[in-house]
Amino acid sequence: MSFVLGLKCRECGREYPSEPIHVCEFCFGPLEVRYDYDGIKRVLTRELIESRPANMWRYRELIPIDGEPSVGQHNGFTPLVKAENLGKALGLNNLYLKNDGVCYPTLSFKDRVVAVAVNKAKEFGYDTVACASTGNLANSVAAHAASADMKSYIFIPNDLETGKIVGTSIYGPHVIAIKGSYDDVNRFCSEVAAVFKWAFVNINIRPFYGDGSKTFGYEIAEQLGWRAPDNVVVPVAGSSLITKIYKSFNEFHNLGLIDKPKTKVFAAQATGCSPVTTAIKNGQTDFKPVKPNTIAKSIAIGNPADGYYGIKVVNTTGGWGEDTTDEEIVVGMKLLAETEGIFTETAGGVTISVTKKLVEQGRIKPDELTVLAITGQGLKTMEAVEKTLVKPVTIEPKLSAFEEIYKNL
Ligand SMILES: *Cc1c(COP(=O)(O)O)cnc(C)c1O
Ligand SMILES: [Zn+2]
Repeated sequence: MSFVLGLKCRECGREYPSEPIHVCEFCFGPLEVRYDYDGIKRVLTRELIESRPANMWRYRELIPIDGEPSVGQHNGFTPLVKAENLGKALGLNNLYLKNDGVCYPTLSFKDRVVAVAVNKAKEFGYDTVACASTGNLANSVAAHAASADMKSYIFIPNDLETGKIVGTSIYGPHVIAIKGSYDDVNRFCSEVAAVFKWAFVNINIRPFYGDGSKTFGYEIAEQLGWRAPDNVVVPVAGSSLITKIYKSFNEFHNLGLIDKPKTKVFAAQATGCSPVTTAIKNGQTDFKPVKPNTIAKSIAIGNPADGYYGIKVVNTTGGWGEDTTDEEIVVGMKLLAETEGIFTETAGGVTISVTKKLVEQGRIKPDELTVLAITGQGLKTMEAVEKTLVKPVTIEPKLSAFEEIYKNL
């Protein structure tokens, strides 16, 4: 049973039926899913949620599909890790990592949004899914299309990491590399979407897709023992995840599941692509599009679809935005790996190194409960760190050979 009432324009409030549409015909505002919260409140309790299997569908009343999921059933419910060692290094006594670098099945938080989008595409009767992607979305759409026995067309920028390309092509989709940045790919896909009757997960299915991100926030609140953190630091690309984490805490509060959240939401971007954090630092309510140039390719979106709303969330919660250089991103990746044994991709390095700055600036205090969003897996972006690591020492399988090099290790 579904609690979805339909879609609604975020700007003018006009209501629409639940259909594969994403912009308001009247004001061009983005559409979002409208729920029957009174109905949900009558059935959804902490106990009911806790009684369900450990995956994102334990919050099914708040996820916009009508029936049972037929694909992506195992996604989500990733570990929330108490990070004592990293906390010591950063000067934080109450630090947690939400680790979607191990999200099933393609090792990024995109498995949450894609699970919703592909199920919704099936419900709408599509036989083909598609996306414009910076890499992780490509992996996830291709994998879920394979498992749903649907065709897929994946559009990516032509400069992606090997891990992102191989991790897409293995599932047998049609992959099209576009000469240009993600923003060029996205603009091009809007044209394709107007002609080809496909489910573009982050275009015509976007209102449903976006709500998959809410489960990242629901899980944080549940795993903290049914409360929202004081701070959350989120890597920002299109700005969907950051707005949905904020929404998830407020929904939980309105449903009586947690106390009123006082969470400050912090945006993290790479200096080479920081339209959102630059606007926040300059006190602007909207961003200026930029041309991306950073190793954090998965979050290199110069013209973020929900950027305006991401800035608003940060400002209304009393958070802040910071950016970090490519060198600092690598330092952040290594720091996380060496302190917590977690290998994250470049976007995770952005989160870690931005957090360091926020602590130094006094914006995040030592005793506050802080959660960092680790959104992707380091094995997909090995290029970023490969050359900075100590090479293995090669020797003959002889004890004398080992004894010779042992003292220099
Ligand atoms: C897509 C992505 C993000 C950001 O997502 P948005 O919702 O577009 O802001 C963060 N981290 C990783 C690893 C991603 O792939
Ligand atoms: Zn409108």
